[in-house]
Amino acid sequence: MNHERSRDLYDRALSVLSAGVNSSVRATRPYPFFVERGDGGHVVDADGNRYLDCVMGYGPLLLGHDMPESVRAAVQQRASEGPMYGAPTEVEVELAEFVVRHVPSVEMLRFVNSGTEATVSAVRLARAYTGRDKIVVMQGGYHGAQESTLVEGDGAHTAPSSPGIPESFAEQTLTMPFNDQEAAQELFEEHGDDIAAVLTEPILGNYGIVEPVDGFHETLRDLCDENGSLLVFDEVITGFRVGGLQCAQGKFGIEPDLTTFAKVIGGGFPVGAVGGRSELIEQFTPAGDVFQSGTFSGHPVTMAAGLETLRHAAENGVWDHVDALGDRLRNGLEDIVADQAPAYSVVGTDSMFKVIFTREGQGVPRNGADVKRAETERWERLFWPAMEEQGVFLTANQFESQFLSASHTDEDVETLLEAYKEAL
Ligand SMILES: *Cc1c(COP(=O)(O)O)cnc(C)c1O
Repeated sequence: MNHERSRDLYDRALSVLSAGVNSSVRATRPYPFFVERGDGGHVVDADGNRYLDCVMGYGPLLLGHDMPESVRAAVQQRASEGPMYGAPTEVEVELAEFVVRHVPSVEMLRFVNSGTEATVSAVRLARAYTGRDKIVVMQGGYHGAQESTLVEGDGAHTAPSSPGIPESFAEQTLTMPFNDQEAAQELFEEHGDDIAAVLTEPILGNYGIVEPVDGFHETLRDLCDENGSLLVFDEVITGFRVGGLQCAQGKFGIEPDLTTFAKVIGGGFPVGAVGGRSELIEQFTPAGDVFQSGTFSGHPVTMAAGLETLRHAAENGVWDHVDALGDRLRNGLEDIVADQAPAYSVVGTDSMFKVIFTREGQGVPRNGADVKRAETERWERLFWPAMEEQGVFLTANQFESQFLSASHTDEDVETLLEAYKEAL
């Protein structure tokens, strides 16, 4: 494969963009390919190489790269009418109505511009509503590039996981292993009166994929109820990806107090949202006094793309299609792994999938530490490039989920399986 133009572009990028990229996961080694355009379930790079795309923008592109006519028309019309106004528009009401209609725990929303902004707003709201400062997050959970959740450590012994974050943020954040009900009970026994919220992904999607064991979310729900804390589901990846229209919370039968969305609900444009009971969401200014604001929030082009994407998905059986592809792919991968690398774990659900290079005797990961123990260097330095060489674009490290889209076909699944067979 020729990568001459990508190399030249990276050379230029290194002079003007930190590490040549605008999001750290994109800095693949030795240098990333630069994308020219999308094409259904594929991307084409600057040198004309075509890749089967399982990154899908790191999650947002439920439909793949080709916008269905209804989405394209809505986006083009909105953009041509002037991009944004600083005043409300009908389309943001329509997208909110759509989400409220389908996600049982959500009565009301506030749109923002990214998943990070959504979790920042949710944490502020939970702290204000409860009058408490501490939050609980899962080790290996990801809630965006924000001060309160970029922590490492165990229980109350936490420290910022990035320079530039004051210790005082980490002091307010408690951590526990995903799927560890005893750890949750212990944290609440010791700190229950101070815990504003438990913030968790329903499925670890940025460090895994790790699915919840039976009873885990129920335990969190009960502990929050008993202690007057809020349960916040970060459905930035799983929202309208897992569980179809009802999202992961519907699939698991859990009603969180607050839910954060982003990725899929913007149809490929920058978006985020916090949803929940009206009584909670109305705490945001100006109805309440919890400050929240955003110049681009509810951007008409984004709202139109999100609304038409979700409508299209609902009317065209998109979740049935992508979930069936996911099952077929995971089953095929199970066979290949059993044959060629029996220690490895095939993980995922619905249209999310990954092969984790777990070690001999390790089994399927149940929490972030299990994923961390797997062979991350082998995955990143040998496996990822071997797949790229075969024209398959995977997420850049062992931790991030990969995705199928409505643009993928049975034939793409076969191609993927052949590539895994070759590279594993
Ligand atoms: C992607 C992601 C975020 C961050 O969203 P951004 O739009 O990148 O800020 C937060 N939480 C989860 C679960 C995510 O997957």
